[in-house]
Amino acid sequence: MDRKLIKKKTKFKTQCVHAGELIDKVNGGSISPLYMATSYKFNDVKENQYPRYFNTPNQKALADKIAALENAETAIVFSSGMAAISTSLLSNLKSGDHVIMQNDLYGGTRNFIKKEFPKFGIEFSFTCGNSSKDFENEIRKNTKVIYIESPSNPTLKIIDLESISDLAKSNNTITIIDNTFASPVNQNPIEFGIDIVIHSATKYLGGHSDISAGAIVSSEAMIRNIFASAKNFGGNLSDYTVWLLERSIKTLYLRVKEQNKNALKIANFLENEIWIDKVYYPGLASHPKHELAKKQMKGFGGMLSFDLSPKIDCKKFLLGLELIKPTMSLAGIETTALSPKLTSHSLLSNKERFEQGINDQMVRLSAGIEDYEDLKDDIIQSIKKQT
Ligand SMILES: *Cc1c(COP(=O)(O)O)cnc(C)c1O
Repeated sequence: MDRKLIKKKTKFKTQCVHAGELIDKVNGGSISPLYMATSYKFNDVKENQYPRYFNTPNQKALADKIAALENAETAIVFSSGMAAISTSLLSNLKSGDHVIMQNDLYGGTRNFIKKEFPKFGIEFSFTCGNSSKDFENEIRKNTKVIYIESPSNPTLKIIDLESISDLAKSNNTITIIDNTFASPVNQNPIEFGIDIVIHSATKYLGGHSDISAGAIVSSEAMIRNIFASAKNFGGNLSDYTVWLLERSIKTLYLRVKEQNKNALKIANFLENEIWIDKVYYPGLASHPKHELAKKQMKGFGGMLSFDLSPKIDCKKFLLGLELIKPTMSLAGIETTALSPKLTSHSLLSNKERFEQGINDQMVRLSAGIEDYEDLKDDIIQSIKKQT
């Protein structure tokens, strides 16, 4: 299949539109054709093609596109972020191995580790991860993987990517980062030496709250090893959704730039309001790791959190919003908000939430691409209902 070769030198915005494109040689159409075939002609020279081998024309084209955006050699596209996460971990771990994870992780990732790892005899430890020293303290003889998320969910903690990858390299350990919150627009962890980058493509890559997908991005060698397990686990994505995701990514840069701008404006506005106790956003000078965020991020992202003052009822605030949607997911072009305690992190115990810095008054907001003034007015009107 003809995949357009995009010269290495093209810039990010160009790659969003063109990287990986399939050429329609039959009709000369201007976008990638969609090949829904699950069965391909026997080919004794090249590999056999089959959706669960992650090698149909559209799957390979999309993998090329996502890899280009992360400056990586290659990628595999999955049916969900959790399929990418579970496959990246289970393909690299066996019974008796140990993993270090930071404390504040995506809720689903934490549940996966706690429920599944003990069954397979895989050891794990959590660390607050404020510095690479915290990770270093957890290293054991059998540590195989260090797994991080930066910015983290929902407290927007920033982990020093370079020092974590240095630590891992000197201990012969693989590093995996969930880069979902940043998106490839704002952060490319491979440039800092991280081995494996994961995206829940359900979020920014898809961007319209209508696609479930995930991706693993890494070197050829790492992906070969992950693929050997992935084809057994069977988490491939349908080619139709692959094709839709390619279309979504064409506007990734434009969407995320606007989301960055809106998030920064909202964070600045909230920081000066008396009914807000605290704002969590790496783009604010008050963020404890603001300088580090400036060093390793190209933009600060569309996600922020804030603590309502005790006078405001969190649930009523969310239900009082008229434009901003109080929904679970994030990263869509529409602004959404939730209470981590009541939704995304409801399965954690009070103690676990407390350890992650999640309090009952916390609201997590995913900035969309609407007009900032309308978003601000909506937040104010919902507060006014209670004051
Ligand atoms: C949503 C999300 C996931 C899981 O992705 P799914 O596509 O829902 O499986 C993993 N990590 C982060 C940071 C997420 O936001």
